[in-house]
Amino acid sequence: MIQNKKVKIVATLGPAIKDKADIRRLVENGANVFRLNFSHGEHADHAERLQWIRAVEQEMGTPIGILMDLQGPKLRVGKFADGAVILQKGQAFRLDLDNAPGDTTRASLPHPEIIEALKPGMNLLLDDGKLRLNVTAADAEGVDTEVLVGGELSDRKGVNVPEAVLELSPLTEKDHRDLQFGLEIGVDWVALSFVQKPEDIAEAKAIIQGRAFLMAKVEKPSAVEYLDEIVSQADAIMVARGDLGVELPAETIPAIQKRIVESCRQQGKPVVVATQMLESMRNSPAPTRAEVTDVANAVYEGADAVMLSAETASGDYPIEAVSMMRKIIHEVESDPNYLARLDINRPFPDATVSDAISCAIRRISRILPVAALVNYTQSGTTSLRAARERPKAPILSLTPSLTTARRLTVVWGIQSLVDESFSDCEHIVEAAFEAVEQREMADDGDMLVITAGAPFGRPGSTNMLRVETYESGKTA
Ligand code: PGA
Ligand code: MN
Repeated sequence: MIQNKKVKIVATLGPAIKDKADIRRLVENGANVFRLNFSHGEHADHAERLQWIRAVEQEMGTPIGILMDLQGPKLRVGKFADGAVILQKGQAFRLDLDNAPGDTTRASLPHPEIIEALKPGMNLLLDDGKLRLNVTAADAEGVDTEVLVGGELSDRKGVNVPEAVLELSPLTEKDHRDLQFGLEIGVDWVALSFVQKPEDIAEAKAIIQGRAFLMAKVEKPSAVEYLDEIVSQADAIMVARGDLGVELPAETIPAIQKRIVESCRQQGKPVVVATQMLESMRNSPAPTRAEVTDVANAVYEGADAVMLSAETASGDYPIEAVSMMRKIIHEVESDPNYLARLDINRPFPDATVSDAISCAIRRISRILPVAALVNYTQSGTTSLRAARERPKAPILSLTPSLTTARRLTVVWGIQSLVDESFSDCEHIVEAAFEAVEQREMADDGDMLVITAGAPFGRPGSTNMLRVETYESGKTA
C-alpha cells in the first residue's frame, strides 16, 4: 500500500498538473500534501486545484493536506529601458528609489526600507545569487555599489540582502489578500516566506486566528539565528534551501539543514526538507545519483516530509518525480539501520504522561510484533508526540476532526482515520480492529497497541495503554 510509508511527500502544483485525474495519480504514487504556490498563478487557478484535491480526497477516502505558500517580501529590481543589461566586474552600479527604467549605470530598487538598511560594506545578491554587488556608499535615495560578480541583469530579478535584518513585515499587501483568499477556500496549512524573527510568526498567527496551521520557511540567516524560538512558535518548519542557499553560502546548507531537523525533532514539530530535491527530473525521467542521495539523506536525518517544487509544478515528469521519491523513501525505511540512526538524535521526553506513554509504545513496538499504534486524538497533539518518538510501527490516528487529520498529513508515520462518532474507549478498540483489517495492516497474531485518555476525549488526557492481539474477523 502506497500510503504505508512513514515519510510524507509534499508536491507543488502548477501548469504541469492539469486536472483531477493528475492529482489522483500523484496521490496514488505517494503524494500526501499539495502546495499551492501563491508566487505564481491566479486565485482562480488555486481554487480550482483545491477543488480537485478535495474531490480526490473524497473519492479515495484518505485525508490530503493543502499548503498555501505565500510569496512574502521577495525583493526585486525594477525594469530596464532595453530589457536587460550586462554588468562588468569592477564597474560602479547604483540602486535607487527612482522609478525610471534602469540602464548599465543604475536600476530601480523600489523598497525604501531596504535602502535605509543598507550600509557600506554590505553585499547584495541579484538573480538567485548569480550577481554580487558591494555597497560603497549609501544615501537616503539609494546606494552606490561596486560589481563584485557581474553578469546579465534583467527586469524584476530578485534581490537578496543576507547581512541585513530588514524592517519588513513577512506579509506584503499581496500576501494579505492571498491569505484571506486561502483561508476562505479552506487551506489547511499556510507557509510563511522569509521569516526573520519569532514575532513574524505571531503577526501571521494573529491574522490566521486558528483557521489554518502555520509552517515557517527558514530561508534567511536571521531565521537560523532565532531557530529554536521560531520552531517553538510555528506549527511546522520548511527548510527552504532555495533562498537559504542564496542568502548563505551553499556549502553551509547541509549542516544548517541538520540543525533545523534536529531542533524540530526535539520540539516535536514536523519538518519539511524542500527545493531542488530531484531538480533534474524537470526535464529528465531519471534523477541524478546525487539527487537520490540527497532525498535519502533527508529521510535518514529524520525529516517528516520531503518536497517537490518545479519537478511537479512545471516539469515534464511530475508523476515520475513523486514515484521516484516514494521509492527512495521506501528503500531508506526498509534499511534495518534507519531507525537506529534516528535514535542517535532521539529527543528527550518532557516529564508528561503523554511523553511517557509515547516512549512506552516506541519500546513495545520493538519488543512485540506490533502492526499499528492506534491513538485517539482531537487536536493532533497526542499523535505528534507519538510521532516524535519515531516508533517502528505506523501510527493510526483516530480522530473525529477532519481538520486534524489533514493537519497530520505532513507528519512522519501518521495515518489518520476520521469518524465523528468516536465516543468511548470500547468503541476505539473496535474501530482500531476495523481500520486495521480494512487497511490490511496486520496479520493474525500481530499486536495492536491502543492508547487513549480517560475521561475520554479531553485533550491532553492520554493515560491508558492497551495491547490487543489481532485476528481478522474478530472485533475486539
Ligand atoms: P520558494 O521557497 O520556492 O517559494 O522560493 C522555497 C525555497 O526558497 O527553497
Ligand atoms: Mn523561497
